[in-house]
Amino acid sequence: MNIRNLNELNIQGKRVLIRCDLNVPIKNGIIQSDARILASLPTIEFALQKQAKVIIMSHLGRPKNECYEKKYSLFPIFEYLKKKINYTKVYFSNNYFNADSINPGELLVLENVRFNSGELKNDAILSQKYSKLCDIFVMDAFGSAHRKQASTYGIGKFVNIACAGPLLKYEINMLKNVLKNPKRPMISIVGGAKVSTKFNVLNKLSKISDTVIVGGGIANTFLAIDYDIGKSLYQPEFILEAKKLRDKYNNIVIPIDSRIGKNFSDTEQSIIRLPSKIQKNEEIMDFGDETIKKIVKIIKKAKTIIWNGPVGVFEFPNFRKGTEQIAKAIAKNSGFSIAGGGDTLSVIDMFSIKNEISYISTGGGAFLEFIEGKKLPAIDMLEKNFSQQILKNIF
Ligand code: AMP
Repeated sequence: MNIRNLNELNIQGKRVLIRCDLNVPIKNGIIQSDARILASLPTIEFALQKQAKVIIMSHLGRPKNECYEKKYSLFPIFEYLKKKINYTKVYFSNNYFNADSINPGELLVLENVRFNSGELKNDAILSQKYSKLCDIFVMDAFGSAHRKQASTYGIGKFVNIACAGPLLKYEINMLKNVLKNPKRPMISIVGGAKVSTKFNVLNKLSKISDTVIVGGGIANTFLAIDYDIGKSLYQPEFILEAKKLRDKYNNIVIPIDSRIGKNFSDTEQSIIRLPSKIQKNEEIMDFGDETIKKIVKIIKKAKTIIWNGPVGVFEFPNFRKGTEQIAKAIAKNSGFSIAGGGDTLSVIDMFSIKNEISYISTGGGAFLEFIEGKKLPAIDMLEKNFSQQILKNIF
């Protein structure tokens, strides 16, 4: 990778714009998990200590019409940072294309980039506007590195110097090392609801892992090869692909029993059923006890674990057991464990096992795309910008 890194640059007195991934769960203005903010903090503080004029930007959630929506405002994150970084001035701006400048060693938090028209479409005019906010652009949002958007990708074409932040670099090196030389047996656990995006990575994971454990909507899609699974979440167009993977690799563990409910509700009672006994009006929402036992045994023996996604609807107490037992088994395992994805981070927080996981990635989609072997757009952007720097003889 021919890219510039933040620690190679003299940033003193410069306007340094850092694209972070501060996309944390917020309920009624209260941050539910600060894992991503904490992961970004060392980069922000590094730039502050070097006396840069530090500006940070991030997306938060999925605002509908590229305009302000209170529930997606970064204001609670600004308030959080103001408390953490109490040794300097911290400002917030929602009108930042006309914002006043700040002094060296101070921090400016920009409002959600997804309120800006053109952000998602990687609009050139918006990308150029971002580039004018800074002397140096730092891409540190590993969690958004798979997005070709104005604040993660487009800006790179217009800004003189774009570089990788320490978090982005660290995450990529960590994943590279795990994939290059894993201790065996290596197992992968893939759960969650985003069936279509996760199916792409299953092929690669099945190829490189000794065992692949599927949960959530992915497991349901495998079950749907042989059973009618009622109104469970699954993706019919992936059944054929699931069958091919199952028969080709023979290392995918499919649930042998499931917890089902009739209503998708947090008060719904759960019943354990064999897959062949699921009724039309029932929905699989978690593993059954036999499946949990079988998988916990596999986890115990693993030397490397890659984990993405809850295996059930862990938000509902009666459908939490599978995710909880698996999370706790991963925590107990003394091998190397790597976990990634927004909901995986919430699970880790819920069961307080943060310190027991060897490495927690801030990325979900980026984590999966990297494992899949795809070149992340953020890396492409940094490489292209580096070539521009050479052409323009910036150093
Ligand atoms: P993802 O973002 O793909 O990791 O999906 C996480 C979401 O998947 C969580 O909100 C879970 O509640 C949900 N989920 C897990 N298992 C199931 C299931 N069997 N049916 C419906 N949703 C599920």
